[in-house]
Amino acid sequence: MPNKTPETAPLRVLIIGAGFAGLGLAMRLRQQGVDDFLILEKGSEPGGTWRDNSYPGAACDVPSHLYSFSFEPKTDWTRRYAPQAEIFAYVRQCIDNYGLQPKIRVNSEVAQARFDELAALWRVTTTDGASFSARALVSACGQLNRPLYPQIPGVERFAGESFHSARWHHDLDLSGKRVAVIGTGASAIQFVPQIVPKVKQLTLFQRTPAYVLAKPDRAYSRFELALMQRWPWTQKLDRGLQYLYHEARGVAFFVLPGLMKLMRGSFLRHLARQVDDAGLRAKLTPDYPMGCKRILISNDYYPALAQPQVAVVNEAIREVSEHGVITADGREHAADVLIYGTGFAASDFLAPMQIRGLGGLDLNQAWKDGAEAYKGISVNGFPNLFILYGPNTNLGHNSIIYMLESQFPYVLACLDKLDQGVRYLDVRKPVQDAWNQRVQHAIEHSVWEQGCSSWYKNAAGKHTNNWSGFTFSYRRHTRQPDWSAYDLVR
Ligand code: NAP
Repeated sequence: MPNKTPETAPLRVLIIGAGFAGLGLAMRLRQQGVDDFLILEKGSEPGGTWRDNSYPGAACDVPSHLYSFSFEPKTDWTRRYAPQAEIFAYVRQCIDNYGLQPKIRVNSEVAQARFDELAALWRVTTTDGASFSARALVSACGQLNRPLYPQIPGVERFAGESFHSARWHHDLDLSGKRVAVIGTGASAIQFVPQIVPKVKQLTLFQRTPAYVLAKPDRAYSRFELALMQRWPWTQKLDRGLQYLYHEARGVAFFVLPGLMKLMRGSFLRHLARQVDDAGLRAKLTPDYPMGCKRILISNDYYPALAQPQVAVVNEAIREVSEHGVITADGREHAADVLIYGTGFAASDFLAPMQIRGLGGLDLNQAWKDGAEAYKGISVNGFPNLFILYGPNTNLGHNSIIYMLESQFPYVLACLDKLDQGVRYLDVRKPVQDAWNQRVQHAIEHSVWEQGCSSWYKNAAGKHTNNWSGFTFSYRRHTRQPDWSAYDLVR
């Protein structure tokens, strides 16, 4: 008998990444009784974004019940918006409940994946030299897993400690320190209020102010928790109502972007309530349409910025020196610690993995003008490769978990097809092109095209990240594969 280790026996499916996407698909496979799969995880433990982003104050800005699997409900979320530790614990609970631990190979960063046309197998190697083969390869790496460090001259000269928000140095005590923070996105607005009370001085370098609205967060009462445990349908009701509320917001993003002007009024009122100083308010007021960048929610960000030890600096950064950050006006802002809240390389998708499809086609080459995929899942020339949370499947208005739950059955249907005498399925180029023209056309009329820079676009300005419509319409598109869109090679 040959040795049936994962390295030698072709798997039915190999999943890259043990975050919400990879684990969710694995849970669905388990529910179907499928055992022939493996998850390769580059980190030392599973959890994806909720493992990486452990900075102080990390929490989800999508309500807990909506940001958890509908098929694995949790009735005892402590708050409407769960903190990172609780979401991370939920992920581990999912792993336990579905017995997934033996299916996850940690410290396994994929270096290369090559489609072997003759064998109709993906051949995958990891940076530690292990190799695997599988009939189907699923990328579940997410869009926000590679920290983006700013290209600022002199960063290597900085004498103090510096780190990215997704690589927080928990053993560094910030008490009494002068801290410089670069960036004012979703991550920074969560950790800044947490560190302000500790630090001697905080200098926040803001390139573009964000729209920050009130966060309707609160702890679930004991009564509500008891209710959801006694009658689980009340949890479903809560989830359903939150889904509808968030989905309705989509109207202002991509149907009638003009509605955002009305919402801007409520933003300005919130800012005025939280910040007395007119000068600071002016600095914090965006000059681009609301929703163009991600709308943020926080109750403690603006009050933190109004503290005497905090300075918001709008001046552009010229360079980093040994002792701090120098702005374009020549001023050096002294700092002992430098924190990058500068986001992620979101439009790079599967990079830096080298993925080669039919005829040795390189995915980076196929995507040289910007990533695109049919329904965000399939890429022409890369048969039996399925991408979860792929190009143009991110949202500005609702929960990514819903999008993932639309993609799981689609991918499972494709896997089933491979068991029906089909060696591989490759999406046809004209179909993929038509799909992407449609998506890009819809985005042209959305709020994301109204004059701002954001991680939703690549360097060339192509919208590679966001889905262009309602999530229920995406679900309709992904309800089941249209096999005529694919070349089915038998
Ligand atoms: P981000 O939204 O991309 O924000 C990065 C910030 O860094 C921006 O303010 C950006 O300014 C600034 N920046 C980048 N390069 C710079 C440079 N060279 N000089 C000066 N400033 C620079 O990143 P993020 O805050 O990590 O959030 C990324 C995404 O992760 C979010 O949009 C969200 O989808 C997700 N996230 C979600 C949660 C949650 O609660 N669910 C929490 C955190 C993150 P510009 O705006 O001018 O580019």
